[in-house]
Amino acid sequence: MADPESRNYSRQVSGFMHSHVLPTRVGEPQLLALSPDLARQLGFSEDFCRSEEFLQCMAGNQLLTGSRPYATRYGGHQFGQWAGQLGDGRAMNLGEVTDLDGQPQCLQLKGAGPTPYSRGADGRAVLRSSMREFLCSEAMHFLGVPTTRALSLVGTGDSVLRDMFYDGNPEEEPGAIVCRVAPSFTRFGHFQLCAMRGEWELLRELIDFTIVADFPELHARHLSGELDREALHACWFAEVCQRTRVTLLGWMRTGFVHGVLNTDNMSIIGQTIDYGPYGWLDNFDAQWTPNTTDAGMRRYSFGQQPAVVQWNLYQLANALLPVTGNRESMEAELTRFATLHEREWQEMILAKAGLLPGTEQEDEAILDGLMQILVAQETDYTLFFRRLADFDHRRQDLVLAEIVREAIYDQTAYDEAQQQRINVWATLYAARLEQQDSDWGQRRARMNAMNPCFVLRNYLTQQAVEQAAQGELQLLRDLQQALQRPYDEDPRFALLYGRRPEWARHKAGCSMLSCSS
Ligand code: AMP
Ligand code: MG
Repeated sequence: MADPESRNYSRQVSGFMHSHVLPTRVGEPQLLALSPDLARQLGFSEDFCRSEEFLQCMAGNQLLTGSRPYATRYGGHQFGQWAGQLGDGRAMNLGEVTDLDGQPQCLQLKGAGPTPYSRGADGRAVLRSSMREFLCSEAMHFLGVPTTRALSLVGTGDSVLRDMFYDGNPEEEPGAIVCRVAPSFTRFGHFQLCAMRGEWELLRELIDFTIVADFPELHARHLSGELDREALHACWFAEVCQRTRVTLLGWMRTGFVHGVLNTDNMSIIGQTIDYGPYGWLDNFDAQWTPNTTDAGMRRYSFGQQPAVVQWNLYQLANALLPVTGNRESMEAELTRFATLHEREWQEMILAKAGLLPGTEQEDEAILDGLMQILVAQETDYTLFFRRLADFDHRRQDLVLAEIVREAIYDQTAYDEAQQQRINVWATLYAARLEQQDSDWGQRRARMNAMNPCFVLRNYLTQQAVEQAAQGELQLLRDLQQALQRPYDEDPRFALLYGRRPEWARHKAGCSMLSCSS
């Protein structure tokens, strides 16, 4: 049910989940990037994607046939505090397209102008944040981590005023629009706002709608009589927890830090959503956060992600409870979330090292040593595991400390004592591999299939952004190519696989990002 108010002005919306809106025209749209893979999946021909019609539609200057755009209403906890009504302040859904697998996919423009949820802001997005979102959602997809996707990146030709570091120095920046694509853009915050406002009927409708549209297998089991309403809700919440866990583990495996895990940035179908001041670990540091707004609290740092995601699931459970009832089953599910994640994280780190789980004591010994190596001398998370796969424990001539040397940032502290420590660990590691009768060739293939050689390092995106602002798109193109095969080394992109250069260590946009976008 849509909000009957058709005028587009910032306001509180009660009793409705969405408002119809129209994109605001932009001056001189230019297609900066396209995801050919996603276009294909959506059944869009190359000709169509190169057409003027496509460009104008992706810029919001024209509507796709049958499209009736709308912006949705949600709320959320931001940095732990309830923030009230937020909503699609600069996003609008254009409608759905059924993809080649028969899955309906919603197309959404981000940055296409103000909506009733803009809270007085301009509804626009700048090129740097749009490029970052475009690249990262595609990178995440090819890494095999659930995510919203990005079809196109359009430069608007208009400028947008932003105070990037909130220090009273606003500047004109080029504007851009990303077309995001997902089966559903429903967030935890959609449910929360209904609950916070006591809109129980609307909440019930939203839950029913979500299960039918986004969890059809569960709905079918309900229709067949297998699940009564209470069991349906319990299974649904369990499924949300499970999908969220899979995505979280994907972030932890690849070294992704979302940066703003507010409840309004949590997708009900478990996809990674809203790429803002995100980052990828270079050196392994569980406390690292790319988000300057969070530099003090580190609420959303790499190592905090499991706890904060569980906290977000608690907020979702609180919102659903008045309709679904059954507190015990939800609480059990939330506890299970943490227990399972802890186990999966351990198993995953072992698997990244090519090991199967052993006894608790054996695993502890291996993992403690491994963590020590990762933290000491600032070891690159991505490169370390990639190089570790080159270690053949049956060859006497291979010294682990030498093999992983390239992954170390603090080479000055990489002294003999530390190399000795790594080699001591290598002896333990080799014994474990021997005990598991691990064949080097097979292990290497298994490890390389889960340890990417390419992640979208912050400094790379920043360079691509700086070049694009000068009208140079080569690096954007190269990154687009490289991110499509993140597990297979391609000599053409060797330069993109290396560790972060020293100049990028403290540079804005590389190691520090603000929420301004
Ligand atoms: P984000 O930090 O991007 O997750 O956004 C948080 C909230 O602020 C969401 O409701 C956004 O729609 C809204 N928002 C962010 N930037 C803008 C903008 N330029 N214009 C309107 N709304 C915005
Ligand atoms: Mg958001």
